[in-house]
Amino acid sequence: MSHLSAPHFHDEAAAFQFLEEALWPHGPVCPRCGGLDRITTVKGGRAGLRRCGPCKRQFTVTVGTVFESSHVKLPMWLQAAYLLCSSKKGISSHQLMRILDVQYKTAWFMTHRLREAMKSGKLPPMGGAGVTVEIDETFIGTKYKKPEGARGYAHKNAIMTLVQRGGSARSFHVDGTSAADLLPIIKANVEPGTHVMTDEAGQYAHLNKHFAEHDFVRHGVGEYGRGLVHTNTVEGFYSVFKRGMKGIYQHCAVKHLHRYVTEFDSRYNNRVRLGVDDQQRTVAALRGIVGKRLTYRSSLPNAAQH
Ligand SMILES: [Zn+2]
Repeated sequence: MSHLSAPHFHDEAAAFQFLEEALWPHGPVCPRCGGLDRITTVKGGRAGLRRCGPCKRQFTVTVGTVFESSHVKLPMWLQAAYLLCSSKKGISSHQLMRILDVQYKTAWFMTHRLREAMKSGKLPPMGGAGVTVEIDETFIGTKYKKPEGARGYAHKNAIMTLVQRGGSARSFHVDGTSAADLLPIIKANVEPGTHVMTDEAGQYAHLNKHFAEHDFVRHGVGEYGRGLVHTNTVEGFYSVFKRGMKGIYQHCAVKHLHRYVTEFDSRYNNRVRLGVDDQQRTVAALRGIVGKRLTYRSSLPNAAQH
């Protein structure tokens, strides 16, 4: 049976129950007063409606989330979240529009809200003694038309990614790829005791001053790695990222790039190899929806292209 035939993807009451289990693993919490006691179901009320014992007010699990003010029904939101979280390279707003049979701007709004939900709060630094973090950068899209005769990648958007081997990835849309652009971010996100691994690029030349160990691969002389010295993990991350960005998100506006970067990090950090299945990955994204209220107006692009 198709995963999408599950009741919470079609039935309002089942959708509320699913979201309640995801957001209230320890039972309902009143979003108005924080109360936990004597919370009852309102008989004959709309799906998911509860009444709080202490403050007597009514609420549902969607209070304070983007789902509350959206005209899209909750089962449809859950379908969108599942599709976005279970597609390895993501899903375009156009494709979602066709699958869900909604307007393009609705599909666009939904995918961007879900990406926003995937964003983690402030995280402690990665790495540590005996742990390896690979660092690399890639270029995507164009900031401006490449001047005639110009060389290099200055006209493209630069992304830097830190990947802990066997662990998570963190990507950043950076202003440029000089040491001045990258080093402050690396230092803020990687423990000093870490073994860092890069290629031979000049911007990484002095990492050994800041980290316990620094090894690098000499791609320039055709070297792809010497035993444990390689950047294959971060390159593997980029191969999925670049195929997704090229194939699905061809015309990503620069101001939204950080959200796509978050989406690819999030899927990588909740990947099957770490024991996370499609449903758990979806639940993780839904949990991120709580408290992240970006209104339709403030997120609507001037010209959404994808
Ligand atoms: Zn209350």
